[in-house]
Amino acid sequence: MTERRFCDLHTHSTASDGTYSPAEVIDAAERLGLSAVALTDHDTVVGLATATERATAHAALTFIPGIEISARWPDGTLHILGLGIDAASPDLAELADYLRACRNERNPKMLGKLQAQGLEIDMDDVHACLLDRKAAGPDIVSRVHLAEALRRKGYAKDRREAFEKYVGQDGSAYVEKERLAPSKAIAAIVAAGGTAVLAHPVQLRCGNNAQLERAVHDLVDLGLGGIEAYHSDHRPEQTRLYLDLARRFGLAVAGGSDFHGFGKPDVKLGRPRVPVSAVGREQLTTWARR
Ligand code: AMP
Ligand code: ZN
Ligand code: FE
Ligand code: FE
Repeated sequence: MTERRFCDLHTHSTASDGTYSPAEVIDAAERLGLSAVALTDHDTVVGLATATERATAHAALTFIPGIEISARWPDGTLHILGLGIDAASPDLAELADYLRACRNERNPKMLGKLQAQGLEIDMDDVHACLLDRKAAGPDIVSRVHLAEALRRKGYAKDRREAFEKYVGQDGSAYVEKERLAPSKAIAAIVAAGGTAVLAHPVQLRCGNNAQLERAVHDLVDLGLGGIEAYHSDHRPEQTRLYLDLARRFGLAVAGGSDFHGFGKPDVKLGRPRVPVSAVGREQLTTWARR
C-alpha cells in the first residue's frame, strides 16, 4: 500500500455545528485515504468517544482527539484548537460546562429579540434542528442552529441570509456571547495534555505582520504551542507566512479544512491538502497517543 501523505486536523461534527456525525467524519476521512484526522468540535468533547471508537476500524488512519475553543479578541476572532487532548480531562469538562452555560444564557435572549420583531420562533424550533445529532449526545446550541431554525420557518432563504438579517454580528437579533480569556482556553488545553494551536490566524484580522507577530508572541507567553498554517481560508502566501512564524517561534505546525459537512458546502474534508511532512509524523503520533 502506498503511504498516506495528507491529513486534516480541523473538523466539526454534529456534536457542535457540523452535519456529519463523529463516526461519519472518521469514515469520510478514511474514504479519502487521509493519514490522520482530528475532530475539533466547538467548545465540546462529547463527539470524541464515538470518533475514537470508530477510528479503531481503520488501521491506517490516525485519529487525534481535539477541540476548538472561542476566546476574547479585540477586533477579530480568536479560536484556539486543542490537539491531542485527553477527552476525559476534568479541566476541559469544567470549561465546557461554563461555555455551555454562556450559550444557554445568550440563546433565549436572541430568541426574545426575534420574537419582539414579530417572528414566531422558539426554543423548540431550534431543538428540532438538533434531533439528528442523537448519536453524539446533546451539546452546544450555536447561532448556526438558530440560523437553521430561521431557514426552516421560512424567515430566511438560507443560513447565510439568516446570519445577514438576524443572527450575524450586524443582524437585528445579535447578542454578544460572554467570551473566555485566551489564557483560560490555553490553560485548559495544556492541562488536558494537549497542544494549544492558534486556529486560522487570518481571522485575527491583524493589520500587518508586526501586529500578527506581537499577537503570536503574547499567546506563546500564555502557553500557545502551535499554529494552524494550512486552512481553507488561507491563501498560499498566508500559509507560507504562518509556516515561517511557526519556525521562528518554535511552534508545531497544524492545518485542516474546518469541515462542517453540508453547513459549509464550499469547505471540503481534506482540503486544502495538509502534508504529513509539514506537520511531522512524530507530532501526529504524539497527538494521537491517548
Ligand atoms: P456561535 O458560537 O454560537 O457564536 O456561532 C458561531 C458559528 O456561526 C461559527 O461556527 C461560524 O461558523 C458560524 N457563523 C458565524 N458567522 C457566520 C455567517 N456570517 N454566516 C454563516 N455562518 C456563520
Ligand atoms: Zn462551526
Ligand atoms: Fe474556528
Ligand atoms: Fe472550526
